[in-house]
Amino acid sequence: ELANRMAEKGADLVKAMFKMGMMVTVNQTIDQDTAELLVTEFGHNIQRVSDSDVDIDTSVDVDAPETLKSRPPVVAIMGHVDHGKTSLLDALRGTDVVKGEAGGITQHMGAYQIKTKGGDLVTFLDTPGHAAFTQMRMRGANVTDIVILVVAADDGIMPQTIEAINHTKAAGVPMIVAINKIDKHEANAQRVRERLLEHEVVVEAMSGDVQDVEISAKTGVGLDELIEKILLQAELMELKANPDREAEATVIEAKLDKGKGPLATVLVNRGTLKVGDILVVGTESGRVRAMLDDKGRQVKAAPPSMPVEVLGIGGVPMAGDKLTVVESEQRAREVSSYRQEQATAKRTATAPANIDTMFSALAAKQNVIEYPVVIKGDVQGSVEAISAALNNLSNDEIKVRILQSGVGAITETDVALASASGAPIVGFNVRPNAKARELIAKTKTPMMYYDIIYELTAEVAKQMAGIWGPER
Ligand code: GDP
Repeated sequence: ELANRMAEKGADLVKAMFKMGMMVTVNQTIDQDTAELLVTEFGHNIQRVSDSDVDIDTSVDVDAPETLKSRPPVVAIMGHVDHGKTSLLDALRGTDVVKGEAGGITQHMGAYQIKTKGGDLVTFLDTPGHAAFTQMRMRGANVTDIVILVVAADDGIMPQTIEAINHTKAAGVPMIVAINKIDKHEANAQRVRERLLEHEVVVEAMSGDVQDVEISAKTGVGLDELIEKILLQAELMELKANPDREAEATVIEAKLDKGKGPLATVLVNRGTLKVGDILVVGTESGRVRAMLDDKGRQVKAAPPSMPVEVLGIGGVPMAGDKLTVVESEQRAREVSSYRQEQATAKRTATAPANIDTMFSALAAKQNVIEYPVVIKGDVQGSVEAISAALNNLSNDEIKVRILQSGVGAITETDVALASASGAPIVGFNVRPNAKARELIAKTKTPMMYYDIIYELTAEVAKQMAGIWGPER
């Protein structure tokens, strides 16, 4: 790599280092000081590159106030299980005046947008519950402008209601309380308002500043009022973005489609995403081949706050990843390969050299050994189910440690991580790509391919018993 950058022969560099008393091979990693010495030795100039030289830093690139135009609010729905989050999402989707107009088929892609009777647009995140919200936030993606806290009027404040309040407050996102199931005769909306006080949520009816509305996701009562309140809140927030620039977006959901390849639902933060745009997203790069809206229609351009499914990304990105449009394919590849290197370096830096040293070190330290594993699957749901199932196999003596899990084909970085940690790779309905296959052969990384979860867990349980068994 260094020789390439200097347009010198690798062998010459190795020779020069031998002369300096350093016995190295051509693909060995050398430290920065040695590299600098070598570069000077060959008569080249040193240019130290930092993150900001290679990677994209969009935070410095602020849009001028006169370029900003108002954009639709992005709304997330949270609340306790069975309080009606999914029903409300469905009911709100039903209020869309564009619905059915073009005969499109509703796509569940992680977010949808409705047009209200007044012609305003509102975007809803279609993953109810706070797990998705928190996961995105942990990855630095704050896409939600407004949270609707759904509380069932017959059930009142429950543990997940309180959790949702805490998450919303931590994110500093304004909340609208939707008191649901008001059609039920045991409904007691006033009781809900009173109990909310205990959690420092003071609704308007209690002289506070949090908007509240009584609704029924079942009968549709109060939905118009809820939408009005969302629009009012959005107006207060003066949500704006510059639509006339290269796009930046956030990944809401991503998966590998057998026919179409990697698919990512993104929400445009600023600028307008267009078909043909060259992009970097997380550690992946690509070009927008096509975009679909939430009604399955092809669109050519996506302005701020619009969710679209993007085709044409090289691999499956992660929820919360930032998408940035760049000027050239070369730049896209440069940034994505830099990010891949960084990600691998970070993961392998702490990984023990092999399975034996890892087990003995751990066993010595805490009398517990670990079974490390890398999981790749075709959809997020199965990856999560496998992770949960494997974690369940942990006991007092041996614990399953998931080094990495994700959606998509098994890649070189997965193999690098697994082999560095002496871990097997589990592929659920996915296979390694060509480069990964080479590395698997070279590193002799154990592979396990499954399409039935319990067969996979049975095999891992057997291996774990073997590790802890008398033969070790
Ligand atoms: P989630 O777990 O929060 O997504 O809740 P769901 O949307 O799945 O709703 C849980 C149950 O409550 C379902 O049986 C719904 O039919 C019912 N439900 C939701 N909203 C209402 C409502 O406004 N009125 C009545 N009577 N039932 C509702």
